[in-house]
Amino acid sequence: MVRGLTAGLAGVCAGLGQPGPTEQLRIGESELEVTFGGGQFDLSRPQVLDWVNQSANAVARYFGRFPVPKARLTILSREGRQGVSGGRTWGDHGAHTRISIGEHTTVMGLKRDWVLTHEFVHYSFPDMPERHHWIEEGMATYVEPIARAGVGTLDGMLAPGDARRNAGGADFGGAGDRKIPPRRGIV
Ligand SMILES: [Zn+2]
Repeated sequence: MVRGLTAGLAGVCAGLGQPGPTEQLRIGESELEVTFGGGQFDLSRPQVLDWVNQSANAVARYFGRFPVPKARLTILSREGRQGVSGGRTWGDHGAHTRISIGEHTTVMGLKRDWVLTHEFVHYSFPDMPERHHWIEEGMATYVEPIARAGVGTLDGMLAPGDARRNAGGADFGGAGDRKIPPRRGIV
């Protein structure tokens, strides 16, 4: 179910154009601290931040607000590669996600990415014992394409990563996302 917020609620509030590894995004009432972990991208920083903003806004739109008041995102560059990979989310010490972007990733590559939206959906669900971890992944896998459709970044065609995701390969020990069981919950 899609509720409430408009796409205009999320926005880059500070830091664009300034040097330094950290940018602050405001997603409705929530704050998202984005740290660039080094390395080069063909894309500009504003282009990368726009993707982060869209992904976060998709989740905020779905739930009516971004699931947590504060979160941290670390973006790493993968030299010589294309595409998004390696999403990981932790719930202890505050919501935190790490994700990798290939050095030669394009705008379209980011638009087709599902991993970051999936990671942000994890913020909405309590941490479960390991034997019930399936429901955390099931929830994120279910919500992510609906959330992306709500902001127009899902074109109706499954990308290769989507196919792997839906087959369970990427999200359960493959090259895509996996939520790291934290020591304590995020909600
Ligand atoms: Zn996941």
